[in-house]
Order: sequence, then C-alpha cells, then structure tokens
Amino acid sequence: MKKDEIIKSLNTIIMEAIESRASDIHLNPDQNGGEVKYRIDGKLKKISRFDSVFDFKKHVSRIKEMFHGDMEINLLPQDGKIIIKVNDKQYDLRVSVFPTVDGEKATLRILDKLNITFDYDRIFCLKEDLAEIKNIVSKPNGLVFVSGPTGSGKTTTLYSMVNDFAKRESCMVLSVEDPVEYNLEGVMQSQVDEKIGKTFPAMLRSTLRCDPDVIMAGEIRDEKTLELLIKIAVTGHYVLSALHTADIKGSLSRLMEISSHAYMLSASLLALVNQRLLRKPCKHCSKKYKPSDAEAKSFGVKNKKSLKFVDSVGCEKCHFTGYMGRVAIYEIMTLDKGIKDLIVEGDKKMIDSYIDENVITFSKKIGEYLEKGLTTVSEAGRVLGDVL
Ligand SMILES: [Zn+2]
Repeated sequence: MKKDEIIKSLNTIIMEAIESRASDIHLNPDQNGGEVKYRIDGKLKKISRFDSVFDFKKHVSRIKEMFHGDMEINLLPQDGKIIIKVNDKQYDLRVSVFPTVDGEKATLRILDKLNITFDYDRIFCLKEDLAEIKNIVSKPNGLVFVSGPTGSGKTTTLYSMVNDFAKRESCMVLSVEDPVEYNLEGVMQSQVDEKIGKTFPAMLRSTLRCDPDVIMAGEIRDEKTLELLIKIAVTGHYVLSALHTADIKGSLSRLMEISSHAYMLSASLLALVNQRLLRKPCKHCSKKYKPSDAEAKSFGVKNKKSLKFVDSVGCEKCHFTGYMGRVAIYEIMTLDKGIKDLIVEGDKKMIDSYIDENVITFSKKIGEYLEKGLTTVSEAGRVLGDVL
C-alpha cells in the first residue's frame, strides 16, 4: 500500500470504530500480517485483517507519526495522544504501542468526551441505589471505596460522585489519578508520574497542603497508599477511591488487613460500593418473551401474567452482537454503628454474616433488571455467573 492509502485506511479504521461506539481499537500483529479488533460494550470483536506484514507495519508507523512518537524506536513501548475530529466532534485517542515477538501492537482508546455521562439518574437505574448514593455524598467527611474488576465502570461512578461535590460552591475538590482520562469542571486534577517521584503517596500528602474538602484517588493497589487514605479521611476530609476487589466482603477484609488501627478504619469508613457492567439488549432487534416459572424463580421474580424478559437477537445496527450500551449494577453498604463496632472487634465471621444480612446483593437485584428489560439472562450469567 502507498502512503496515502495507509492514511486513508487508518482513518477508516478509526472512523468506523467511533461509529460502532467502540471504546478501543486493537491492531494486533502476527506472522502473516495482523488483525484489527474493536472493543464494543466491553467485548472484543474481530473487524478485519491484513495479509501483509509490510502493510500492517505501515499502519502502526502512521499511528506513531500521528502521536509524534519516536519512529526509530520499535523495541520499546511508547504511548501518546491523538486528537481527531469526526463529524465535527472532537475525540481524544490515548495510544499505546507495545513490542511483541511478531512486531509492534497498537492500542487506541477512544475517549468520547461528549458522550460520557456523570448524571446520577442515568448511572443508578434503581431508585433505592440512587437514594443511597445521594445519602452517602450528603455526609461531610469519610472514606468511600468503589470496587469491581477492570472495566466494571468504577471510574464513572467515582466521577459522578466527585462531580456532585464539584458543583457545590463550598467544596474544594482535588484528584490524584493515573492517568487523568476526563477533565472534570471544578476539580483540580493531577496525574501520578512515578518516574519523576510523583507517586500516589507523595501527591496525596501534597494535596493536604492545598486545603481540600474532597480528595479523589484513582485505583489504589498498594498498602502504604491505602493506609494513607484512611489517615486523610480521619482528619476530616471526604476521600473517594477505587479498589480492585470482587465484592464488599473482599474490600472490607483487605482494608482491615492493611489498617494497623482498626478504630481509625471504623471511624473513617463511610461506604463500600461494588459494581459490574451489564450489556443492554439492542433496542432495534431484541425480543420480549415469557420466562418459564423455573427461570423467573431462579432470579427471584414472581411469574405474574404480565412478566416478560428480553432476549438479544442481533442486527446490523448492533454489529450482530444483540447488545447496545451498558448499564451498571450495584451492591452498596453504608456503614452503621453495628458494623463499625464489629470492625473494631475484628471478628471476621460476624462481619461476613452481617454483610450477608444487610447488603442487597447482585443476586437480589438482577431480577428487577431482567423485569425492566435492562439486560438478558445470558448476559447476567456471563457477568455475574460467579457471584449469583
Ligand atoms: Zn441489534
């Protein structure tokens, strides 16, 4: 392929990804060329392939040229940013080029600034979840953790809560992130850069000298930073962060392990939120059906006459996946005196049974999602299979 053909071909790959609502574009090399995959609603889909190693390499080179990467380097990872306009809308692409044994792989994450919502009403689709979150952000201080695996929408939930504080005149909101993905109005956002000593702990300590009311820290994986967050919350700040744990029990036991003073954790911990993302059936092709008594019962739904579930079908508009868009499902625990006392006592068994009795779990909520047609039985099984 000639240079102008490469440019045109790459532009088409990017434009079609945006039109398909993809979040990521993957250009994966192999011994005969390479393939193009899009991630749509969290799932990878093969789009096309190159049967020429030369053409594939040229595409990756063009990407490097676009983010002003070093054209001479092809054995080390590189990353950068590309800003493009499609249909008069601006898109930021976060690009990473990664050396594999078959050549360089390029990944482009599409950050669609206009399409992202931090509105509670669109994020929390159950009334009781919305009410509980609004109650949590009405408190003056405390520590809130959002948990879930990678790609479960934790950042969106954190941003929606931070956005609420940022709108208040009385709130000084600071964030330490790795990296900053979206610019939030009214939030002083900063980015971690380990190479020059801007580590999470160093940055968090500095934020305290900026007189903040609310601090958001990105996903925290190391113990030192977690303990620091607890200390910051104890001193009267509102602290929001994410944990890479599978459920509320896991989050609490992790926090108890790292916290050298159980009473400090107990005093500062305000709420634990756990979440997953479920794909929504495509509105153009999905079909309603009457579930059997056994199926309704297995999701805790009463099989009344009018009960209908939705099944995915697949059409051109949803790339024959049967789904379009995603919806979050939550488990939320606001800590009351009962559990706070148990944390101080450190009785893990009692804590687990307290959580079992008091938290409305995914398995108790999924029935309502199915009744409302927000997702399908097979998607519920795929995402929540291990916890239902
Ligand atoms: Zn469809």
